[in-house]
Amino acid sequence: MIEILTSGQVDRARATGALVAGILQTLKGRATVGTNLLDIDRWARDLIVGAGALSCYVDYAPSFGRGPFGHYICTSVNDAVLHGLPRDYALADGDLLSLDLAVSLRGIVADAAISFVVGTSPPPESVALIAVTERALRAGIAAALPDARIGDVSAAIGSVLQGSGYRVNTDFGGHGVGSTMHQDPHIPNDGRPGRGYRLRPGLLLAIEPWAMVDTATLVTDPDGWTLRSATGCRTAHTEHTIAITPDGVDILTRPADAGAAGGMSGGEPLAVPEV
Ligand code: MG
Repeated sequence: MIEILTSGQVDRARATGALVAGILQTLKGRATVGTNLLDIDRWARDLIVGAGALSCYVDYAPSFGRGPFGHYICTSVNDAVLHGLPRDYALADGDLLSLDLAVSLRGIVADAAISFVVGTSPPPESVALIAVTERALRAGIAAALPDARIGDVSAAIGSVLQGSGYRVNTDFGGHGVGSTMHQDPHIPNDGRPGRGYRLRPGLLLAIEPWAMVDTATLVTDPDGWTLRSATGCRTAHTEHTIAITPDGVDILTRPADAGAAGGMSGGEPLAVPEV
């Protein structure tokens, strides 16, 4: 199903997006050496519930996972890249942590992910990998113009990832968002320009480049959820929910301190602020 939101629903989506962005930044601020992933999950729960929002994850039971997720946030560390099930693990200096969060507020969902290195000695390879996924995200958003096609977004993302030397896995990618978390259209992280669904105002998209240093193959943990690189290499994942507007794109999950360019026209691909 592809859902086109009314302007009133898009306004509500802005509130959901601001909540998701705020929670992620709060958790990033708290995550330090020694922080347990289960604490991050508990903090996420408290922040979601405290805001009167609903978790999209707790009861989520898709075909690619094992039963209800049962937690409030995905915590993927180092070689884990997607769907990281929170577990009893204390973060170490230099760990690369990816947090992925989706909540519903007043019936509208927003979905975002950030990656960052914990502690004071970030490995240069991790910093570079994160920067590439963030650049791919900016490129994908810049391509998401009204009347553009999904293939334009996919191609823009894939171009950055491949141009940086990473192979692209298209098993998991971005998606439509609205009254539920995962909707059509699917947005692979590589594709051909001019193909696929035509973007139109009122469409909400979660765009989410992710990358692994030296492989395109994923393996699933025994927990049935956590997806890791097959080689054990570092991975990173970034995601924003955006709204297609008549004039361009609104980034709904941008942190409040990331600048005031709320309605980028899309004409300046590198004008999208840092995630
Ligand atoms: Mg997400």
